[in-house]
Amino acid sequence: MRVGRQELLLIVGLIIALSVAFSGQVANVIQAARDFEGAHRLGLLPGLVIAAVSLLVFLQGKRRQLQERATAVAGEASKAQERAHELERLVTFWQALTQSFDLDAIRDVVQQYQPEITGSHDGWVVTGTEGNWKCVLGPTTVQTGRGEMSVTDLAFEALAQSGLSAKPDGIDHEGQVCFPMIAAGRSLGVLGVPAAASSLTPARRLIVGAAAALLGVSVRSVYLLQEVRESSLRDSLTGCVNRAYAMEVVATELMRARRSHLPVALIMFDVDRFKSINDRYGHLCGDAVLAEVGAKMRASLRSSDLKCRYGGEEFLILLPETPLDDAHRAAETLRREFSELEIQWNGRVIRVTSSFGVACARPNEIDPTPVIARADEALYRAKRAGRNCVRVADDPPAVVTSTGHVA
Ligand code: GH3
Ligand code: MG
Ligand code: MG
Repeated sequence: MRVGRQELLLIVGLIIALSVAFSGQVANVIQAARDFEGAHRLGLLPGLVIAAVSLLVFLQGKRRQLQERATAVAGEASKAQERAHELERLVTFWQALTQSFDLDAIRDVVQQYQPEITGSHDGWVVTGTEGNWKCVLGPTTVQTGRGEMSVTDLAFEALAQSGLSAKPDGIDHEGQVCFPMIAAGRSLGVLGVPAAASSLTPARRLIVGAAAALLGVSVRSVYLLQEVRESSLRDSLTGCVNRAYAMEVVATELMRARRSHLPVALIMFDVDRFKSINDRYGHLCGDAVLAEVGAKMRASLRSSDLKCRYGGEEFLILLPETPLDDAHRAAETLRREFSELEIQWNGRVIRVTSSFGVACARPNEIDPTPVIARADEALYRAKRAGRNCVRVADDPPAVVTSTGHVA
């Protein structure tokens, strides 16, 4: 119990009051004590004074002890409150991340919460798949003792130091603290904060480490989602996208072409006399041929070209920003490359040819169906012309030149 100033005054007052009230008796007691002292040669009064002083010193010490304990408890309480705030921030950060289904959304969340979590506006994030990382937030380069360095290189070097071992308080590297984003035993990136950031206390480093771990889980989920989406759009045999997805992309590209006034071309091709391959060598051999055709398309065409398995052995290719004559050349190259393919099957060499139709979107054309129909019609003319050849749609918008201008 703490004895305050008021209580002390009250006790002193009571003592004085009692002394006044019982002054006669007190005088008698003191006299008796003196007589007793004299008779027995005792020092009662000094003894009492020493006892009283000891008691006061003891009470004072006790009081100081209690005050210190109270201060410590208050400090603990404020630390606990601060920790609760930090946890609350982490939970809000995590909730925002769970609403993010792509990397752009994740980047926006990190940008929003970065100052609160790291205490700095100068943090950066690098992430990507299979070591193909890039900076998605913050400065792409930082000044280091070795001069200007890209944050991506810095992140790789920091991770090389720690590997996949947990480093919840970050890795100090070249004036930056790197917090690895590790999930499911894989490094998914690094969240970096300048080491000079004054707010980066040891406790704060643990919080940022936890935020980086949450970020890792979130980035991993986005990549998994992308993989699932991707595999549902792709045909596993040829690696081409499916027809429904291609129709969406063609529609989007036509809209884009209308805005940009750039040409869009389509190539449709069909493997010649494919049924006879199935009939002679079996369906597995037919599948092997289709897989080779898919692989050759991927190797030969630009990555920006959309390759679609339109039907059984019929394919559609969308060539953005490509005029008709360039698309015609691309089709001719593919035709030649397919005819040169030597597909090994049970000790035999299988060869195939294909027939091609090429069409270009007309200016302001936004419906995919007519332009696909024109490419299809050209393809059937190629079949009728004896197969293994390319035909261009009858009514090409000849006004689209190789420089991409629509006259
Ligand atoms: P054409 O030159 O006129 O195109 O003759 P074709 O024999 O290629 O044409 P047709 O349409 O008669 O035959 C296509 C065959 O492709 C029939 C079908 O069984 C086969 N096919 C479709 N999808 C697959 C597949 O995924 N694997 C295999 N092995 N065969 C397939
Ligand atoms: Mg065919
Ligand atoms: Mg066919």
